[in-house]
Amino acid sequence: MDTLDYNSFAEKCIEDLKILQNKFQKEYNLNWYENWFYSQTTGLLTFSTGDKELNFKYFEAGSFSEKSNTWKWSWDNNHTLDNVKERTKLIKEFGQKSNFAKLTNGYFQSDEYEAWEFTAIAAKLTNGIGTYRPVSDGQLQIFLVITEFVDNETAQNIKDKYVECSAHEYRRRAFVCRHLNPVTKVGFQEAFETFEDMELSDKDDFQAWCNECENVRQKEGEWNDNSMAFANIKVICEQCYFEIKELNTGHR
Ligand SMILES: [Zn+2]
Ligand SMILES: [Zn+2]
Repeated sequence: MDTLDYNSFAEKCIEDLKILQNKFQKEYNLNWYENWFYSQTTGLLTFSTGDKELNFKYFEAGSFSEKSNTWKWSWDNNHTLDNVKERTKLIKEFGQKSNFAKLTNGYFQSDEYEAWEFTAIAAKLTNGIGTYRPVSDGQLQIFLVITEFVDNETAQNIKDKYVECSAHEYRRRAFVCRHLNPVTKVGFQEAFETFEDMELSDKDDFQAWCNECENVRQKEGEWNDNSMAFANIKVICEQCYFEIKELNTGHR
């Protein structure tokens, strides 16, 4: 049997992507939406018009620089969060097995057509349902592979888990009592043992309160209206949470 030839493989992927993309556009009527937004943190690509929303899970295949005419696979990109690049390891592995240098080198001279070729290959190897390239800033084109439709309720649940922090941008949310702060030590009681970047189940959130709140909670015997009123829980970001934890306990 002939070994797979890279050029015919890439061509086939482009042909398949054309069909896939057509179907994807039609099925979701993408052209109807006026705005798009994607977040590496949530891994969601959102199209919207007014309050009508359409959400997908995506990953980043890679990026093409219009300035240097180079392609960079996202597995080679330190600025891309794991969340949206993990799947590109499959492409690299496939490249190693097939001896396709363009899939195993992280960064090299290329052109826009080839960038689409790589995206088509990425979609093919990961069973993507479509692709998307957001309008670029004139320097860097980001190529996304869309993996799955997400209904609005699920998307909202995912987004609700994050907050915009003025110091740390978009992060997972955490709940703390009104007394916890980044400057003074007031004790640090947690709902459960935590560490930074830990996985949380859908039901769990980071939650902490100060010693004084803990005293009130014990006096009341539980979290009730009185102890909750005293704590007056506020939302902060995960990073702030662990900075406050470190201040109070010496470790994150
Ligand atoms: Zn407190
Ligand atoms: Zn923060």
